[in-house]
Amino acid sequence: MRYVSTRGQSPAVSLSEAVERGLAPDGGLYVPETFPTIAPETLDGAESLADVAGRVLAPFFAGDALAPALRDICREAFAFPVPLRELRDGTAVLELFHGPTAAFKDVGARFLAALMSRLGGRDARPLTILVATSGDTGGAVAAAFHGRPGVEVAVLFPAGMVSPRQEKQLTAWGGNVRAFAVRGASDDCQRLVKAAMADPELRAARRLSSANSINVGRLLPQMAYYAWASREYVRRHGAEPGFVIPSGNLGNAAAALWARRAGLPVREVVMATNANPAVTAFAAGAPWAAHPTVATLATAMDVGDPSNMERIFHLFGGHEPARRALRAERVDDGEIRRVIREGPAGWGTVWDPHTATAVAARERLGGGDWIVVATAHPAKFEGVVEPLVGHEVAVPPELRRLLGRPSHAEPLEPTLDAFRAALGSQESAES
Ligand SMILES: *Cc1c(COP(=O)(O)O)cnc(C)c1O
Repeated sequence: MRYVSTRGQSPAVSLSEAVERGLAPDGGLYVPETFPTIAPETLDGAESLADVAGRVLAPFFAGDALAPALRDICREAFAFPVPLRELRDGTAVLELFHGPTAAFKDVGARFLAALMSRLGGRDARPLTILVATSGDTGGAVAAAFHGRPGVEVAVLFPAGMVSPRQEKQLTAWGGNVRAFAVRGASDDCQRLVKAAMADPELRAARRLSSANSINVGRLLPQMAYYAWASREYVRRHGAEPGFVIPSGNLGNAAAALWARRAGLPVREVVMATNANPAVTAFAAGAPWAAHPTVATLATAMDVGDPSNMERIFHLFGGHEPARRALRAERVDDGEIRRVIREGPAGWGTVWDPHTATAVAARERLGGGDWIVVATAHPAKFEGVVEPLVGHEVAVPPELRRLLGRPSHAEPLEPTLDAFRAALGSQESAES
Protein backbone atom coordinates (compact mmCIF):
# COMPACT_ATOMS: atom_id res chain seq x y z
CA MET A 1 0.00 0.00 0.00
CA ARG A 2 1.24 3.46 -0.93
CA TYR A 3 0.09 6.74 0.55
CA VAL A 4 -0.67 9.79 -1.57
CA SER A 5 -1.20 13.45 -0.74
CA THR A 6 -4.73 14.86 -0.85
CA ARG A 7 -3.27 17.69 -2.97
CA GLY A 8 -1.79 15.34 -5.53
CA GLN A 9 1.50 17.23 -5.93
CA SER A 10 3.81 14.93 -3.90
CA PRO A 11 5.13 11.49 -4.75
CA ALA A 12 3.41 8.44 -3.27
CA VAL A 13 5.28 7.10 -0.23
CA SER A 14 5.34 4.07 2.04
CA LEU A 15 3.41 4.00 5.29
CA SER A 16 6.63 4.47 7.28
CA GLU A 17 7.48 7.57 5.31
CA ALA A 18 3.97 9.00 5.60
CA VAL A 19 4.10 8.52 9.37
CA GLU A 20 7.57 9.99 9.69
CA ARG A 21 6.70 13.06 7.60
CA GLY A 22 3.28 13.78 9.07
CA LEU A 23 2.36 16.34 6.42
CA ALA A 24 3.05 15.74 2.71
CA PRO A 25 5.60 18.12 1.10
CA ASP A 26 2.83 19.82 -0.94
CA GLY A 27 1.01 20.67 2.29
CA GLY A 28 -1.62 17.97 1.79
CA LEU A 29 -2.55 15.09 4.06
CA TYR A 30 -1.56 11.50 3.39
CA VAL A 31 -4.32 9.06 2.51
CA PRO A 32 -4.21 5.42 1.35
CA GLU A 33 -3.85 5.24 -2.44
CA THR A 34 -6.66 2.67 -2.67
CA PHE A 35 -9.16 1.08 -0.31
CA PRO A 36 -9.09 -2.68 -0.07
CA THR A 37 -12.39 -4.51 0.36
CA ILE A 38 -12.38 -6.21 3.74
CA ALA A 39 -14.79 -9.15 3.48
CA PRO A 40 -16.59 -10.15 6.70
CA GLU A 41 -14.76 -13.53 6.71
CA THR A 42 -11.47 -11.65 7.01
CA LEU A 43 -12.33 -11.13 10.67
CA ASP A 44 -13.35 -14.76 11.39
CA GLY A 45 -11.63 -16.03 14.51
CA ALA A 46 -10.40 -12.58 15.51
CA GLU A 47 -12.19 -11.82 18.78
CA SER A 48 -10.10 -9.26 20.68
CA LEU A 49 -9.93 -5.71 19.44
CA ALA A 50 -6.18 -6.11 18.94
CA ASP A 51 -6.74 -9.14 16.69
CA VAL A 52 -9.48 -7.38 14.71
CA ALA A 53 -7.16 -4.39 14.30
CA GLY A 54 -4.39 -6.65 12.99
CA ARG A 55 -6.69 -8.10 10.30
CA VAL A 56 -8.26 -4.78 9.30
CA LEU A 57 -4.95 -2.96 9.10
CA ALA A 58 -2.92 -5.68 7.35
CA PRO A 59 -3.69 -4.37 3.82
CA PHE A 60 -2.73 -0.84 4.92
CA PHE A 61 0.67 -2.13 6.09
CA ALA A 62 1.27 -4.38 3.07
CA GLY A 63 4.77 -3.98 1.66
CA ASP A 64 5.96 -1.66 4.44
CA ALA A 65 9.00 -2.28 6.63
CA LEU A 66 6.67 -2.18 9.64
CA ALA A 67 4.34 -4.92 8.35
CA PRO A 68 5.99 -7.71 10.36
CA ALA A 69 5.52 -5.67 13.55
CA LEU A 70 1.79 -5.02 13.01
CA ARG A 71 0.62 -7.68 15.50
CA ASP A 72 2.85 -6.31 18.25
CA ILE A 73 1.88 -2.74 17.45
CA CYS A 74 -1.81 -3.63 17.75
CA ARG A 75 -1.25 -5.43 21.05
CA GLU A 76 0.54 -2.40 22.48
CA ALA A 77 -1.99 0.11 21.18
CA PHE A 78 -5.23 -1.72 21.95
CA ALA A 79 -4.42 -2.63 25.52
CA PHE A 80 -7.61 -1.27 27.07
CA PRO A 81 -11.28 -2.27 26.63
CA VAL A 82 -13.62 -0.55 24.16
CA PRO A 83 -17.04 -1.71 25.37
CA LEU A 84 -20.16 -1.51 23.22
CA ARG A 85 -22.94 -0.93 25.75
CA GLU A 86 -26.64 -1.26 24.90
CA LEU A 87 -28.87 1.64 25.89
CA ARG A 88 -32.50 1.78 24.72
CA ASP A 89 -34.48 2.65 21.56
CA GLY A 90 -32.12 0.88 19.18
CA THR A 91 -29.16 2.79 20.56
CA ALA A 92 -25.80 1.57 21.83
CA VAL A 93 -22.77 3.50 23.03
CA LEU A 94 -19.18 2.73 22.06
CA GLU A 95 -16.99 3.79 25.00
CA LEU A 96 -13.60 4.89 23.73
CA PHE A 97 -12.48 6.50 27.00
CA HIS A 98 -11.01 3.63 29.01
CA GLY A 99 -7.41 4.46 28.11
CA PRO A 100 -4.76 6.19 30.26
CA THR A 101 -6.05 9.74 29.75
CA ALA A 102 -9.75 8.86 29.55
CA ALA A 103 -10.37 10.11 26.00
CA PHE A 104 -10.46 8.47 22.57
CA LYS A 105 -7.23 10.17 21.50
CA ASP A 106 -5.41 7.53 23.55
CA VAL A 107 -6.08 5.03 20.74
CA GLY A 108 -4.47 7.04 17.95
CA ALA A 109 -1.65 8.33 20.15
CA ARG A 110 -0.69 4.88 21.42
CA PHE A 111 -0.74 3.41 17.94
CA LEU A 112 1.37 6.26 16.61
CA ALA A 113 3.84 5.84 19.49
CA ALA A 114 4.13 2.13 18.75
CA LEU A 115 4.79 2.95 15.07
CA MET A 116 7.21 5.82 15.62
CA SER A 117 9.36 4.06 18.17
CA ARG A 118 10.05 1.43 15.48
CA LEU A 119 10.89 3.86 12.69
CA GLY A 120 14.43 4.94 13.51
CA GLY A 121 16.36 2.25 11.69
CA ARG A 122 20.05 3.10 11.61
CA ASP A 123 19.65 6.79 12.38
CA ALA A 124 21.61 7.44 15.56
CA ARG A 125 19.99 10.79 16.34
CA PRO A 126 17.40 10.60 19.12
CA LEU A 127 13.77 10.92 18.08
CA THR A 128 12.12 13.94 19.67
CA ILE A 129 8.38 14.42 19.41
CA LEU A 130 7.19 18.00 19.75
CA VAL A 131 3.58 18.63 20.73
CA ALA A 132 1.88 21.97 21.21
CA THR A 133 -1.35 21.45 23.06
CA SER A 134 -4.17 23.36 24.61
CA GLY A 135 -5.63 20.27 26.22
CA ASP A 136 -6.43 16.68 25.30
CA THR A 137 -3.95 15.77 22.58
CA GLY A 138 -0.83 16.53 24.60
CA GLY A 139 -1.92 14.31 27.47
CA ALA A 140 -2.68 11.37 25.20
CA VAL A 141 0.63 11.74 23.37
CA ALA A 142 2.61 12.12 26.62
CA ALA A 143 0.98 9.00 28.07
CA ALA A 144 1.55 7.03 24.88
CA PHE A 145 5.27 7.81 24.58
CA HIS A 146 6.10 7.74 28.29
CA GLY A 147 8.75 5.13 29.06
CA ARG A 148 9.45 4.29 25.40
CA PRO A 149 13.20 3.87 24.90
CA GLY A 150 14.91 6.06 22.31
CA VAL A 151 12.10 8.63 22.15
CA GLU A 152 11.79 11.96 23.92
CA VAL A 153 8.68 14.06 24.07
CA ALA A 154 8.42 17.82 24.61
CA VAL A 155 4.91 19.00 25.42
CA LEU A 156 4.31 22.74 25.21
CA PHE A 157 1.24 24.22 26.83
CA PRO A 158 0.18 27.80 27.63
CA ALA A 159 0.99 28.39 31.31
CA GLY A 160 -2.11 28.87 33.43
CA MET A 161 -4.50 28.33 30.53
CA VAL A 162 -5.41 24.66 30.82
CA SER A 163 -7.67 23.14 33.47
CA PRO A 164 -5.97 21.65 36.59
CA ARG A 165 -6.81 18.07 35.57
CA GLN A 166 -5.63 18.68 32.02
CA GLU A 167 -2.39 20.19 33.31
CA LYS A 168 -1.84 17.12 35.43
CA GLN A 169 -2.18 14.91 32.37
CA LEU A 170 0.56 16.91 30.69
CA THR A 171 2.97 17.22 33.60
CA ALA A 172 2.64 13.99 35.61
CA TRP A 173 5.09 11.93 33.55
CA GLY A 174 8.74 12.89 33.94
CA GLY A 175 11.42 10.64 32.49
CA ASN A 176 11.42 10.93 28.69
CA VAL A 177 8.42 13.27 28.72
CA ARG A 178 9.14 16.93 29.46
CA ALA A 179 6.36 19.46 29.92
CA PHE A 180 7.04 23.11 29.20
CA ALA A 181 4.73 25.77 30.63
CA VAL A 182 5.10 28.43 27.97
CA ARG A 183 4.66 32.04 29.01
CA GLY A 184 2.17 32.83 26.26
CA ALA A 185 -0.97 31.57 24.55
CA SER A 186 -1.74 28.39 22.68
CA ASP A 187 -0.72 30.08 19.41
CA ASP A 188 2.75 30.79 20.87
CA CYS A 189 3.14 27.08 21.59
CA GLN A 190 2.18 26.19 18.00
CA ARG A 191 4.56 28.80 16.64
CA LEU A 192 7.46 27.52 18.77
CA VAL A 193 6.93 23.96 17.57
CA LYS A 194 6.83 25.09 13.95
CA ALA A 195 9.98 27.18 14.40
CA ALA A 196 11.80 24.30 16.10
CA MET A 197 10.80 21.86 13.34
CA ALA A 198 12.36 24.21 10.78
CA ASP A 199 15.52 25.00 12.80
CA PRO A 200 18.70 23.61 11.17
CA GLU A 201 20.63 23.51 14.45
CA LEU A 202 17.99 21.39 16.19
CA ARG A 203 17.48 19.18 13.14
CA ALA A 204 21.18 18.37 12.99
CA ALA A 205 21.13 17.09 16.55
CA ARG A 206 17.82 15.21 16.59
CA ARG A 207 15.13 13.70 14.46
CA LEU A 208 12.17 15.96 15.10
CA SER A 209 8.65 14.81 14.57
CA SER A 210 5.24 15.99 15.59
CA ALA A 211 2.37 13.85 16.75
CA ASN A 212 -0.52 16.04 15.76
CA SER A 213 -3.83 14.75 14.59
CA ILE A 214 -3.17 15.00 10.87
CA ASN A 215 -0.70 12.07 11.00
CA VAL A 216 -2.13 9.12 9.08
CA GLY A 217 -0.72 6.85 11.80
CA ARG A 218 -3.33 8.23 14.17
CA LEU A 219 -6.25 7.74 11.81
CA LEU A 220 -5.66 4.17 10.67
CA PRO A 221 -6.14 2.52 14.09
CA GLN A 222 -9.46 4.32 14.50
CA MET A 223 -10.84 2.17 11.68
CA ALA A 224 -10.27 -0.84 13.91
CA TYR A 225 -12.85 0.04 16.55
CA TYR A 226 -15.43 0.77 13.87
CA ALA A 227 -14.75 -2.69 12.44
CA TRP A 228 -14.99 -4.31 15.85
CA ALA A 229 -18.12 -2.45 16.98
CA SER A 230 -20.05 -2.81 13.72
CA ARG A 231 -19.42 -6.56 13.63
CA GLU A 232 -20.46 -6.84 17.27
CA TYR A 233 -23.63 -4.87 16.60
CA VAL A 234 -24.53 -7.02 13.59
CA ARG A 235 -24.02 -10.16 15.68
CA ARG A 236 -26.31 -8.90 18.42
CA HIS A 237 -29.04 -7.33 16.30
CA GLY A 238 -28.71 -8.66 12.76
CA ALA A 239 -28.65 -5.10 11.41
CA GLU A 240 -25.91 -2.69 10.32
CA PRO A 241 -25.43 0.26 12.68
CA GLY A 242 -24.99 3.93 11.88
CA PHE A 243 -22.40 5.81 13.95
CA VAL A 244 -22.97 9.25 15.49
CA ILE A 245 -19.57 10.80 16.13
CA PRO A 246 -18.64 13.89 18.21
CA SER A 247 -16.53 15.74 15.66
CA GLY A 248 -14.01 18.57 15.69
CA ASN A 249 -11.07 18.13 13.37
CA LEU A 250 -12.97 15.22 11.73
CA GLY A 251 -10.25 12.59 12.16
CA ASN A 252 -12.58 10.19 13.91
CA ALA A 253 -15.32 10.70 11.31
CA ALA A 254 -12.84 10.28 8.45
CA ALA A 255 -11.73 6.94 9.92
CA ALA A 256 -15.37 5.79 10.11
CA LEU A 257 -15.88 6.77 6.46
CA TRP A 258 -12.72 4.86 5.53
CA ALA A 259 -14.04 1.80 7.36
CA ARG A 260 -17.30 2.11 5.44
CA ARG A 261 -15.43 2.47 2.14
CA ALA A 262 -13.51 -0.71 2.95
CA GLY A 263 -16.83 -2.56 3.02
CA LEU A 264 -17.25 -2.93 6.77
CA PRO A 265 -20.87 -3.04 7.95
CA VAL A 266 -21.22 0.68 8.73
CA ARG A 267 -24.65 1.80 7.48
CA GLU A 268 -24.09 5.50 7.85
CA VAL A 269 -21.85 8.10 9.52
CA VAL A 270 -23.30 11.19 11.19
CA MET A 271 -21.02 13.97 12.41
CA ALA A 272 -22.16 15.76 15.54
CA THR A 273 -20.50 19.13 15.97
CA ASN A 274 -20.74 21.81 18.64
CA ALA A 275 -21.65 25.40 17.71
CA ASN A 276 -18.68 25.65 15.32
CA PRO A 277 -20.49 25.82 11.98
CA ALA A 278 -18.00 24.82 9.26
CA VAL A 279 -19.38 21.33 8.61
CA THR A 280 -23.10 21.97 8.97
CA ALA A 281 -22.94 25.16 6.89
CA PHE A 282 -21.25 23.19 4.12
CA ALA A 283 -23.69 20.29 4.40
CA ALA A 284 -26.54 22.81 4.07
CA GLY A 285 -25.19 24.12 0.77
CA ALA A 286 -22.61 26.84 1.57
CA PRO A 287 -19.17 26.69 -0.06
CA TRP A 288 -16.51 25.04 2.11
CA ALA A 289 -14.93 27.77 4.26
CA ALA A 290 -12.96 28.24 7.45
CA HIS A 291 -14.84 30.00 10.23
CA PRO A 292 -13.50 31.79 13.31
CA THR A 293 -13.33 29.31 16.19
CA VAL A 294 -16.20 29.49 18.67
CA ALA A 295 -15.50 28.53 22.30
CA THR A 296 -17.99 25.92 23.57
CA LEU A 297 -18.41 23.43 26.42
CA ALA A 298 -17.06 20.67 24.16
CA THR A 299 -13.62 22.30 24.03
CA ALA A 300 -11.78 19.53 22.18
CA MET A 301 -14.18 20.08 19.27
CA ASP A 302 -13.68 23.85 19.06
CA VAL A 303 -12.37 23.85 15.51
CA GLY A 304 -13.20 26.53 12.97
CA ASP A 305 -11.38 24.93 10.05
CA PRO A 306 -11.42 21.13 10.37
CA SER A 307 -8.31 19.88 8.59
CA ASN A 308 -9.48 16.32 7.92
CA MET A 309 -12.26 17.61 5.65
CA GLU A 310 -9.55 17.54 3.00
CA ARG A 311 -9.35 13.77 3.42
CA ILE A 312 -13.12 13.46 3.16
CA PHE A 313 -13.22 15.49 -0.06
CA HIS A 314 -10.48 13.25 -1.43
CA LEU A 315 -12.38 10.12 -0.43
CA PHE A 316 -15.55 11.17 -2.24
CA GLY A 317 -13.75 12.79 -5.17
CA GLY A 318 -14.75 16.42 -4.70
CA HIS A 319 -16.89 18.84 -2.76
CA GLU A 320 -20.26 18.09 -4.36
CA PRO A 321 -20.18 14.31 -3.98
CA ALA A 322 -18.94 14.78 -0.39
CA ARG A 323 -21.79 17.16 0.34
CA ARG A 324 -24.35 14.64 -0.92
CA ALA A 325 -22.82 11.93 1.26
CA LEU A 326 -22.43 13.99 4.43
CA ARG A 327 -24.78 14.12 7.34
CA ALA A 328 -24.02 16.54 10.16
CA GLU A 329 -25.87 17.92 13.17
CA ARG A 330 -24.88 21.09 15.01
CA VAL A 331 -25.49 21.18 18.76
CA ASP A 332 -25.20 24.37 20.80
CA ASP A 333 -24.13 24.72 24.44
CA GLY A 334 -27.72 24.97 25.67
CA GLU A 335 -28.48 21.57 24.20
CA ILE A 336 -25.23 20.11 25.52
CA ARG A 337 -26.28 21.24 29.00
CA ARG A 338 -29.77 19.79 28.59
CA VAL A 339 -28.46 16.42 27.41
CA ILE A 340 -26.01 16.21 30.32
CA ARG A 341 -28.71 17.20 32.82
CA GLU A 342 -31.16 14.64 31.44
CA GLY A 343 -28.56 11.91 30.89
CA PRO A 344 -28.91 10.03 34.19
CA ALA A 345 -32.73 9.84 34.04
CA GLY A 346 -33.08 9.51 30.26
CA TRP A 347 -30.19 7.24 29.30
CA GLY A 348 -28.95 5.99 32.66
CA THR A 349 -25.63 7.64 31.86
CA VAL A 350 -23.57 10.69 32.82
CA TRP A 351 -22.31 12.15 29.53
CA ASP A 352 -19.27 14.35 29.02
CA PRO A 353 -19.85 17.53 26.94
CA HIS A 354 -18.37 15.99 23.76
CA THR A 355 -20.38 12.78 23.84
CA ALA A 356 -23.42 14.88 24.70
CA THR A 357 -23.31 16.44 21.21
CA ALA A 358 -23.66 12.98 19.68
CA VAL A 359 -26.47 12.06 22.06
CA ALA A 360 -28.31 15.25 21.07
CA ALA A 361 -27.83 14.36 17.40
CA ARG A 362 -29.06 10.81 18.01
CA GLU A 363 -32.19 12.20 19.68
CA ARG A 364 -32.94 14.15 16.49
CA LEU A 365 -32.36 11.21 14.15
CA GLY A 366 -35.20 8.84 13.53
CA GLY A 367 -35.18 5.07 13.47
CA GLY A 368 -32.88 2.76 15.35
CA ASP A 369 -29.59 0.90 15.06
CA TRP A 370 -27.45 3.85 16.05
CA ILE A 371 -24.14 3.68 17.89
CA VAL A 372 -23.26 6.84 19.78
CA VAL A 373 -19.48 7.22 19.98
CA ALA A 374 -18.39 8.29 23.49
CA THR A 375 -15.09 10.16 23.20
CA ALA A 376 -14.34 11.19 26.79
CA HIS A 377 -15.07 10.20 30.37
CA PRO A 378 -17.27 12.76 32.20
CA ALA A 379 -14.76 12.96 35.06
CA LYS A 380 -12.39 14.81 32.74
CA PHE A 381 -14.87 17.67 32.54
CA GLU A 382 -16.20 17.64 36.07
CA GLY A 383 -16.42 21.43 36.18
CA VAL A 384 -19.14 21.36 33.52
CA VAL A 385 -20.77 18.02 34.32
CA GLU A 386 -21.08 17.92 38.12
CA PRO A 387 -23.21 21.07 38.57
CA LEU A 388 -25.59 19.80 35.85
CA VAL A 389 -26.11 16.30 37.24
CA GLY A 390 -25.99 17.49 40.85
CA HIS A 391 -23.45 15.01 42.16
CA GLU A 392 -19.78 14.16 41.95
CA VAL A 393 -18.59 12.00 39.07
CA ALA A 394 -16.35 9.14 40.19
CA VAL A 395 -12.86 9.36 38.68
CA PRO A 396 -11.85 6.19 36.81
CA PRO A 397 -8.84 4.33 38.30
CA GLU A 398 -6.40 5.14 35.47
CA LEU A 399 -7.11 8.84 35.76
CA ARG A 400 -7.01 8.74 39.58
CA ARG A 401 -3.55 7.19 39.51
CA LEU A 402 -2.36 9.91 37.20
CA LEU A 403 -3.86 12.71 39.28
CA GLY A 404 -2.00 11.38 42.31
CA ARG A 405 1.43 11.72 40.70
CA PRO A 406 3.71 14.73 41.26
CA SER A 407 3.84 17.38 38.52
CA HIS A 408 6.94 18.48 36.66
CA ALA A 409 6.68 21.51 34.40
CA GLU A 410 9.56 23.69 33.23
CA PRO A 411 8.76 27.35 32.64
CA LEU A 412 9.66 28.51 29.13
CA GLU A 413 9.87 31.93 27.50
CA PRO A 414 8.14 31.85 24.10
CA THR A 415 11.28 32.21 21.96
CA LEU A 416 13.14 29.72 19.81
CA ASP A 417 16.43 30.51 21.59
CA ALA A 418 14.92 29.61 24.93
CA PHE A 419 13.38 26.43 23.53
CA ARG A 420 16.62 25.38 21.84
CA ALA A 421 18.54 25.90 25.08
CA ALA A 422 15.96 24.01 27.10
CA LEU A 423 15.98 21.03 24.74
CA GLY A 424 19.76 20.94 24.74
CA SER A 425 19.98 21.12 28.51
CA GLN A 426 18.58 17.67 29.05
CA GLU A 427 20.95 16.15 26.56
CA SER A 428 23.98 17.46 28.44
CA ALA A 429 22.45 16.47 31.76
CA GLU A 430 22.11 12.90 30.56
CA SER A 431 25.43 12.42 28.84
C1 LIG B 1 -10.39 15.42 19.80
C2 LIG B 1 -11.71 15.11 20.40
C3 LIG B 1 -12.89 15.07 19.63
C4 LIG B 1 -12.90 15.41 18.15
O1 LIG B 1 -12.30 14.41 17.39
P1 LIG B 1 -11.86 14.71 15.87
O2 LIG B 1 -11.24 13.46 15.39
O3 LIG B 1 -10.89 15.86 15.95
O4 LIG B 1 -13.08 15.09 15.13
C5 LIG B 1 -14.08 14.71 20.24
N1 LIG B 1 -14.12 14.43 21.57
C6 LIG B 1 -13.03 14.47 22.34
C7 LIG B 1 -13.15 14.17 23.79
C8 LIG B 1 -11.77 14.80 21.80
O5 LIG B 1 -10.69 14.83 22.59
